[in-house]
Amino acid sequence: MTAQSRIPHFCAMCGNPLIEAIPEGENRLRAVCPRCGHIHYVNPLPVCGTIPVWEDKVLLCLRAIEPRRNYWTLPGGYLESNESSFDGAIRETEEEACARVLPRMLFTVIDVPFADQIHFFYLSDLNSPDFAPGPESLECRLFKEEDIPWDQIAFPTITRTLRFFFDDRRTGLFRTHHIILRKP
Ligand SMILES: [Zn+2]
Repeated sequence: MTAQSRIPHFCAMCGNPLIEAIPEGENRLRAVCPRCGHIHYVNPLPVCGTIPVWEDKVLLCLRAIEPRRNYWTLPGGYLESNESSFDGAIRETEEEACARVLPRMLFTVIDVPFADQIHFFYLSDLNSPDFAPGPESLECRLFKEEDIPWDQIAFPTITRTLRFFFDDRRTGLFRTHHIILRKP
């Protein structure tokens, strides 16, 4: 999903087609309703997930849905209303991998301005090696570092998060990483 594709075409209040205009007192183009005056704001969406760790392995999910079906990902997804990023990360891990985790620390914060997203991944303990693919996954599997399918990872935010994890594990010093991904 691109930032541009999220701009609505019709007014959510009255159904009238929207126009691009700079609202009074603002300095950027917005989708504005010329009939009722409603301004449709589009802001980045938070994506929350976990790095579920069991012994020396990390749990990955093979995506059953587009985009990037048949590519491996960490469990994660869009935050719901009234939900904290911490709780959203736990929920997404349950939904995609039927796995229970205990998040230990916020590990990556990755701004993705061109996709209108911010990704938050929590370094987490897998409570037990019990997991199974949820409806959005074809398969879930624990990977050692040497077995990670680097050329079959779904998204650059996942690759970067996994690299940070294995790098920090080598030094034994885990810290929160913040990066900004630019359009490839
Ligand atoms: Zn309207």
